[in-house]
Amino acid sequence: MRKEYRKAQAITLGTVDYGESDRIIDLYTLEYGRVSVIAKGARRSLKRFVGKLDPPTLLEVIYFNAPYGLSRLDSAELLDGFINIKQEVATYARACYLLELTREMTRAGQVNEKFFELAKYFLETLGSGKERGENLLRYFDIKALDLLGFLPHVEGCVVCRDLFGDGGGSVSSDIYFSSHKGGAICAGCVKPTEELTALSVGTARFLSTAARMPNEKLKRLRPNQVFLREGASVLEGFIKHLIGKEFKSASFINKLGQNPASAMNMKRY
Ligand SMILES: [Zn+2]
Repeated sequence: MRKEYRKAQAITLGTVDYGESDRIIDLYTLEYGRVSVIAKGARRSLKRFVGKLDPPTLLEVIYFNAPYGLSRLDSAELLDGFINIKQEVATYARACYLLELTREMTRAGQVNEKFFELAKYFLETLGSGKERGENLLRYFDIKALDLLGFLPHVEGCVVCRDLFGDGGGSVSSDIYFSSHKGGAICAGCVKPTEELTALSVGTARFLSTAARMPNEKLKRLRPNQVFLREGASVLEGFIKHLIGKEFKSASFINKLGQNPASAMNMKRY
């Protein structure tokens, strides 16, 4: 990697203050994957960076790439400030989840244009206000897992490879999900000591359909509450298994569902 100026389209994932007036920003870029840059004087400079670095934003950035140190942000042009996302706490919490997943599950410098487009599409959809529900996060989960190479096997049993029928075939409708094995398991292959999550064939089918669908067609899916509840618990457990910890924003969203007023007082991420 050479020292050079780079121009990139970037989604801001998070920021931390550094020293007296600098700020370090985590970016996910279309051209170079995830990068951390330092914005010198970001907290003092009103003109250059104001309103541009608070996630989520979509930017066109120019930064000076330092292969062995912190790259320096030179300029940032705001392409989308996602104002609507920041005006409603539930929508903001969902956006935080999307950013956290991106930060935790991607590696610095690994380019994935399709994943960038996915994250951008879902932020735009959240911001449009047309679709803000929980289902949007499940679509993002399953499509993100697919694009990052972690798609769980849910079309059949991950052990015996039998496909799940409609409940009347050779495999019964009682199936489970194993985060450890990365897929669904039929009742016949379950071992007594295994840690499993309950799953229905309908939910397994909903997840595999969502993974294959182009982003813009996902709104045609009409998942019922059981699919969403089971899908959430399976994917939450699986992602936690992959990254080795729970998302801060996931517990924020769960709190919102139970008691929106107290969740409002929680720290912003
Ligand atoms: Zn099996």
